[in-house]
Amino acid sequence: MSFNQPLGGNEMPRFGGPATMMRLPTAATAEGLNACFIGVPLDGGTSYRAGTRFGPRQIRAESCLLRPFNVATGAAPFESLQVADVGDVAINTFNLPDTARRIREAYQELLRHPVIPLSLGGDHSMTYPILQAIAEKHGPVALVHVDAHADIGDAMFGERIAHGTTFRRCYEDNLIVPELTFQIGLRGTGYSLDDFNWSRGKGFTVVPADECWDKKLSPLMEEIRSKIGDRKAYISYDIDSLDPAYAPGTGTPEIGGLTTAQALQIIRGCQGLNIVGADLVEVSPPYDQSGNTALTAANLLFEMLCVLPGVKYA
Ligand code: MN
Ligand code: MN
Repeated sequence: MSFNQPLGGNEMPRFGGPATMMRLPTAATAEGLNACFIGVPLDGGTSYRAGTRFGPRQIRAESCLLRPFNVATGAAPFESLQVADVGDVAINTFNLPDTARRIREAYQELLRHPVIPLSLGGDHSMTYPILQAIAEKHGPVALVHVDAHADIGDAMFGERIAHGTTFRRCYEDNLIVPELTFQIGLRGTGYSLDDFNWSRGKGFTVVPADECWDKKLSPLMEEIRSKIGDRKAYISYDIDSLDPAYAPGTGTPEIGGLTTAQALQIIRGCQGLNIVGADLVEVSPPYDQSGNTALTAANLLFEMLCVLPGVKYA
């Protein structure tokens, strides 16, 4: 079996050719794939700055610099898994509930195959329909949710689907295991002093950003791994968990966030989990003057690929 390989920089300059994720071949369906990259060009669920509809395209563009081996960890994903870019979900930009239905159905179709989807966002409202499809196939999953925000609001302007309500919906629909849900990086101003306590009251573990400051996060991840064990797990990574100094291109930035090194510690710390899906959301290219936010997102998605079950290490 020969695996798909990212197009090398000696075959076509990295700034040339089609900008698929990591310069991988495209695929029309997930048939024969172990993992796939898929975009959700959505910003209909954002509450402040828009622009995440351009996220998937920009993450793909910045991903053209990525090379196939993870020299730091020894991971060789393209020697281990069949991976392709399956394109974008055709969302309805005029109707968010219809978009949610379209996302759910696209992932149900994808998950007819034994594939692990790695999703390029898109605002965080996309994770609700994705987890509907994931839980339908795998049952309720353990969740590693990295974010400046808990995203557990009940409604925004009366709307139950929005980027700030995702994990309340997932909890209500029994898509996640509350005792195995970990929210890392929360911070910022709130509407009340107990904004993070709803999560705790439901059994989630909340690790606010200030508990992460100046610390290596590998020990935290070791603890999370031992709690989750071999349960099926999902990673939802909101780029605004990072400090705006590292990731300014996002819709609702909050100061005092995680560092890029801590983001790597979190994702590398997921190695060994039985990951069935992951997403990287909230990249807003119009606010990303340097491209660093999309570049960071592309790298974090590669790191997620590197910790999937079945990836060989040198
Ligand atoms: Mn979020
Ligand atoms: Mn957020």
